[in-house]
Amino acid sequence: ITFHDLPLAEPLHRALGDHDYQTPSPIQAQAIPVILEGRDLLGSAQTGTGKTAAFALPILHRIHTRPRELKPREVRALVLVPTRELAVQVDRSFEKYGTYVDFRALVVYGGVGFENQIQTLNKGVEVLVATPGRLLDLHSQGCVDLSNVKVLVLDEADRMLDMGFLPDMRRIISLLPKERQTLFLSATLGHTIQSLAKSILTDPVTVSV
Ligand code: AMP
Repeated sequence: ITFHDLPLAEPLHRALGDHDYQTPSPIQAQAIPVILEGRDLLGSAQTGTGKTAAFALPILHRIHTRPRELKPREVRALVLVPTRELAVQVDRSFEKYGTYVDFRALVVYGGVGFENQIQTLNKGVEVLVATPGRLLDLHSQGCVDLSNVKVLVLDEADRMLDMGFLPDMRRIISLLPKERQTLFLSATLGHTIQSLAKSILTDPVTVSV
């Protein structure tokens, strides 16, 4: 199959064309239709498999096809990642695939000043990429409203567990609406990860590559 076999909006096909992406990777071919349908996803995929586009493209599709005015501090899609390096990388991917989509993305992680992050958050963002600790800091200061998050992505969930983020992840999930789409990505699907996924996902489709 090619990307044109996937029902993605024209601005996304245009961005993919700019980068000469023609063939979806296996995780993209399997996950994109499932995510577009609104289903929860349990995906096992290593870095380098194209997992970022697998969730970024359908999220951008939704933003493009269903634009909505955001309230101050509102977030539509929340992507949780274990490290600042991955946060920056995921944010860049959204910018790259979303070149022709009208949306705001913000990346937040610890160790840098709050000022810019707070100013951008104030207007509301379609996509927020965050490490768990910094997100909770911003939330406890009233800088971000998570009560309208429609899509939650847990990227490299196994690494977040390894780094001791489980309590933060649970606290963040408790701040989100119950009615939402959740995409759970992990390189490994061991016992602990599976039971965590089970407690977070609703009737998920499992995709492994
Ligand atoms: P990721 O696994 O998301 O970190 O992506 C790995 C790399 O593959 C990134 O540099 C992407 O830009 C690139 N990539 C992702 N999907 C495709 C694709 N379908 N065709 C060509 N390159 C891709």
